[in-house]
Amino acid sequence: MLPVVALVGRPNVGKSTLFNRLTGSARALVADLPGVTRDRRYGLLRDGARACVLIDTGGVAPAADGFARALQRQTEQAIGEADRLVLVADARDGCVAADRELHARLRRVGKPVAVAVNKVDGADAAAAAAEFAELGAAELHALSAKRGSGVPALRAALLPPAGEEEAAEEAFPAAPRLAVIGRPNAGKSTLVNRLLGAERLLVSPEPGTTRDSIDVPFAHAGRELVLVDTAGVRRRARARADELERACAAQALSAVQRAQVALLVIDAAAGAAEQDAALAAFALDA
Ligand code: GDP
Ligand code: MG
Repeated sequence: MLPVVALVGRPNVGKSTLFNRLTGSARALVADLPGVTRDRRYGLLRDGARACVLIDTGGVAPAADGFARALQRQTEQAIGEADRLVLVADARDGCVAADRELHARLRRVGKPVAVAVNKVDGADAAAAAAEFAELGAAELHALSAKRGSGVPALRAALLPPAGEEEAAEEAFPAAPRLAVIGRPNAGKSTLVNRLLGAERLLVSPEPGTTRDSIDVPFAHAGRELVLVDTAGVRRRARARADELERACAAQALSAVQRAQVALLVIDAAAGAAEQDAALAAFALDA
């Protein structure tokens, strides 16, 4: 699976603006929790074969009312899914107590944390960044999500090194790569297992060279294919249903990015939904 990066920060610091600029589109997959109106959004940050999944969160509000708690839960989920965290802050407000608290919390998670000081529109980037030096972040970016300055440097820092993706492509070079995508419970795993089981030609899964991705080579009707990192194959043995749901959006984006063909599975009983349209659009873009 591709590396996952979460944008975290107080409301209105510009996370969504930055998300749109980094992903280069207003297109996003939305994962919601039951009864929560504010969602996490998923998109692809991409430069050729190099890519990572970006998560935009609703924001961490200081107050502890019901809505703030819901935001918090979304953010906790995103933090849990991510491999890297970006604390987004507002240069106009300077480094406020809530930023310091959030930064400390993110550091305790034990994942790499970068700080993006946003809304440095016309202002001196070095001076804006200096205000946040007290955080002691390993990586500090001054930028303007609205105007785009400083964003290329952040994008370059977030993308995985070029070599890793190329190595992944080499794993099974001859066969076309197929990603089976769809909403949770659409029946992806059942379909995949049926395809694999019927042909009885399943080679045991080999871990890909990138992180924990798994490519499953198989043959169907005399043709060789590679199944790309689907939730159904990868986690069949151990995952709980809610874990599958949680991983779904990031995984689907990863799989699409790494495949030549996407097979979108739709639950006929539930009908096609907005999420299906978003998944199809991602596949077409890729
Ligand atoms: P979020 O709540 O963190 O997702 O923040 P939004 O992305 O919704 O942005 C909040 C407000 O800040 C909006 O009015 C944006 O237009 C504005 N904004 C975002 N980035 C910038 C920036 O780089 N410069 C300026 N001046 N405004 C920005
Ligand atoms: Mg937002």
